Amino acid sequence: MIYGEAEASEWKFERGIPDIFFWRSSSARCLSGGVSKLFLVDDETLKKVAALFGEDAVRVVEVLKGVDEITDIEIADKTQIRLNLVRKALYRFYDHSIVALRRSRDKETGWFIFNWRLQPDQLEGFILNQKRRVLEKLETRLEYEKSHEFYTCQTPGCKRFPFEEAFELLFKCPACNKPMMYLNNDRIVEILTRKIEHIKVP
Ligand SMILES: [Zn+2]
Repeated sequence: MIYGEAEASEWKFERGIPDIFFWRSSSARCLSGGVSKLFLVDDETLKKVAALFGEDAVRVVEVLKGVDEITDIEIADKTQIRLNLVRKALYRFYDHSIVALRRSRDKETGWFIFNWRLQPDQLEGFILNQKRRVLEKLETRLEYEKSHEFYTCQTPGCKRFPFEEAFELLFKCPACNKPMMYLNNDRIVEILTRKIEHIKVP
């Protein structure tokens, strides 16, 4: 019986899709392109992406992912976040095409209603873009670390200086006046290299 249970949970683990959502190919791009693709974005990833846009954004996404389409006023109601902050978060997502906006008109008041929807197919692109940007930054930094020698006074809180600057300062720390010594940056190079490799793995 225990064996059976273990087997069942293993099966679930392999076949089940934990914290992931399926998306109908409801986006305009998919419809016009005629290519239906199954988009899988796990909760954890979505949360991480949302977190890049702030705390409110995480809660807004929590609401968005549970519905097909929702108005910003309804989101504000559900999250208890002020409407202008909800809108701020939404427009930030909108800038990156993570959400789509459909404007309709209230038949009674004549006012515009803003209907929002997650665009999970755009998330992949967004994540890739973010990765690319982080990678570029890390690679630039690695190049800088590799091509420079650094000097420091070893006082906590003081800066390190590349050789050229340290030389001009006559190897004397401008903050604390202590002499500066060569600083081995192998460890930084190692960490950066590892981070880059980690991100590069698809
Ligand atoms: Zn110093």
